[in-house]
Amino acid sequence: MSKLSGKYAIVTGGNRGIGAAIVKRFLEDDAAGVAIFCRRYDAAVAFAAEVDPSGERAFPVACDVSDAESVHEAVAKVLEKFGRIDILVNNAGITRDRIFHRMSLEEWNAVISTNLTSMFNTCHEVYPLMRAQEYGHIVNIASGSVWGNVGQANYAASKAGVVGFTSTLAKEGAPKNVVCNCIAPGTIETDMLKAVPPEKYAEFCAAVPMKRIGQPSEIASVASFLASDDASYVTGQCISVNGGYRTGP
Ligand code: NDP
Repeated sequence: MSKLSGKYAIVTGGNRGIGAAIVKRFLEDDAAGVAIFCRRYDAAVAFAAEVDPSGERAFPVACDVSDAESVHEAVAKVLEKFGRIDILVNNAGITRDRIFHRMSLEEWNAVISTNLTSMFNTCHEVYPLMRAQEYGHIVNIASGSVWGNVGQANYAASKAGVVGFTSTLAKEGAPKNVVCNCIAPGTIETDMLKAVPPEKYAEFCAAVPMKRIGQPSEIASVASFLASDDASYVTGQCISVNGGYRTGP
């Protein structure tokens, strides 16, 4: 019996980066099934085959989390396949960085809808089921950027929204045994970092007390804890995973 034995999960953005590490970790922790939501279905199919050659436990599903109808259809597929959902990890996210006075409304809307409205969309489908079954663990991926970063007005606003949303759902879900927490990663080695110029990368490393960028697996281990019954009395929290790098107001 392992930490997630018998549990069924959805991980959004689960085909690469932090989401892929979470899917892998959940499977290692014996989750009964993990649905991988992302836009690029081919990538999800290939990743699912890599991490679960049996094809029984990793379930790729095409889904644009910013689109309520797409999420509705994707969750219906998961229920058809698994029959229940115990864990929801809202991880999918994008950046569209630009200094605010040059930021377009399109760049603003893309980030808010993918990073924040997506959580309304997924939770609107899954949270009522969790309430009804009186069991659920929701893990939302926020960011250390909530305190503001030059060029990230859209991203910081979306992630600050994630923290407020998480605290609220935690309070509302607590009487029904639905826990909701978030993780605020520091700088983590994923595709998202490819947009960062090399000199900035070195700056990031230097600023971290541990003098290195984090690995996706280091977020996945915390996600696995929060998704498990080891975290049965943890709710409404935002856990920073950042090598000691602290930001604040
Ligand atoms: P990546 O860019 O590596 O991966 C992003 C994932 O999100 C992909 O799987 C992508 O799949 C998916 N995705 C993007 N848009 C959508 C959409 N509309 N619908 C469904 N899936 C979508 O990002 P990371 O792994 O680095 O980031 C994961 C999370 O961690 C994000 O929320 C990010 O903000 C957060 N974070 C990352 C940090 C870092 O340093 N890397 C630091 C702090 C927070 P596809 O393109 O196929 O749809």
